[in-house]
Amino acid sequence: MPIATLNPATGETLRTFDALTAAEVDEKLQRAADAFQRHRRTPLAERAEKMRRAGEILDAEKDRLARLMTTEMGKTLGAARAEAEKCAWVCRHYADHAAGMLAPQIVDVGGTARAEVHFLPVGAVLAVMPWNFPFWQVFRFAAPGLMAGNVGLLKHASNVPQCALAIEDVLRRAGFEEGVFQALLVGSDAVAGMLDDERVAAATLTGSTPAGQSVAERAGRNLKKTVLELGGSDPFIVMPSADLEGAARTAARARCINNGQSCIAAKRFIVHQEVADRFERLFVAAMEALNVGDPMADGTDVGPLATAAIRDEVDEQVRTSIAAGARLLTGGRRMDGPGFFYPPTILADIPEDAPAYREEVFGPVASLFRVASVDAAIALANDSQFGLGSSVWTRDDAERRRFVTEIEAGMTYVNAMVASDPRIPFGGVKQSGYGRELGTFGIHEFVNIKSVWIEENAPDELPDAE
Ligand code: NAP
Repeated sequence: MPIATLNPATGETLRTFDALTAAEVDEKLQRAADAFQRHRRTPLAERAEKMRRAGEILDAEKDRLARLMTTEMGKTLGAARAEAEKCAWVCRHYADHAAGMLAPQIVDVGGTARAEVHFLPVGAVLAVMPWNFPFWQVFRFAAPGLMAGNVGLLKHASNVPQCALAIEDVLRRAGFEEGVFQALLVGSDAVAGMLDDERVAAATLTGSTPAGQSVAERAGRNLKKTVLELGGSDPFIVMPSADLEGAARTAARARCINNGQSCIAAKRFIVHQEVADRFERLFVAAMEALNVGDPMADGTDVGPLATAAIRDEVDEQVRTSIAAGARLLTGGRRMDGPGFFYPPTILADIPEDAPAYREEVFGPVASLFRVASVDAAIALANDSQFGLGSSVWTRDDAERRRFVTEIEAGMTYVNAMVASDPRIPFGGVKQSGYGRELGTFGIHEFVNIKSVWIEENAPDELPDAE
């Protein structure tokens, strides 16, 4: 894939970049290794001051940064501004709370000894990131990572090189010294070599399941830890007691957020048959009310898909599903003209062998299902290789408890759409990956959890087991 800025709203290539040479990659890895030795020793308060400053820069420059995101990957300008603000929030959050999260924990072991658990940095963490939230995905790794004393190496998606460079620039201007966070303009073919390099301690990847498998395999061979945030096909379950209008309004937003290209977008809408006809009418109306168009313009809800290849794949998944017997309720036809636009679409009565039943559709396409019971809703929700988020709409306590305990997913939101939040862990199970980002669990993924045992005097008795 060429490293280039190609405006998905017009199809025009605006800038191309040469990939770094092997010698340049080597130089950056060495710079990271050197910077780590200094960064790990900086007091937490100093790191926090710089992280807070990064948040201030993001807030102050959100209009400029938002235009960059919209130009490179097509999200609406409003969504891009909100993304910059959320990045500022995650910077503030870890600046404020990292000291508490990383504070040594005392363990009562009785006797004369004192036992403590320390959270120490591990080194350079390679982050392989996707284009869909080109700032947020990076900051949600970088803010906890840098606060923990690690240094970051970013291999961003090849279609958002200017976002990658802008993030490095924000962190440099915030005061992090050269080498603490570097964007490497390289293709995915350079990742394996970096995973083999002893100057890289660990890796985190957000992206597709095949990319995750390839990185985990290589990292595993090198015994390096990975965190994987992969695809999803989140269920959105609507039961008879739900606020149907609120659910339908949220359903359209949850499906079309980020032009339908979010890992935690609701993708499979599972509705109890008692309310299915009414929900269907409300959902179709909500999807049809969305404005598709220029992502830079005020009032646009849905911009283009990020690349021609994604638009073509979504179109193919929809056409194949219809050919297999799915019923088209709205949308369903690629839009003419320049740019990679695709309308909000709903498919119903989807047979099990149709792509819209089982595959992740990375565009504004909803799959609608009817079920007769809570058991059937849970069974259908779990009939997926993925297990990222889930949203359930019910006012019934017994149903809630069952959804929370029985849906196989990393997150269950009740009467709300799934959204990431710096304060709580984010991640999935099954083919959606492993490990967690955000919250205290997120900062603890890439630390050496060191046990410390302290005696003031040599003990009289020595332990006789390992
Ligand atoms: P992708 O093709 O997997 O790309 C993601 C990143 O991985 C890019 O930097 C890409 O580099 C790199 N990459 C691709 N193949 C690789 C390989 N074999 N070895 C090493 N690196 C490789 O994913 P995408 O199409 O950009 O993003 C969409 C997917 O990401 C969807 O499945 C979505 O659900 C998932 N996603 C998950 C989360 C989450 O938090 N769980 C969040 C957002 C997106 P190049 O660009 O150079 O190819």
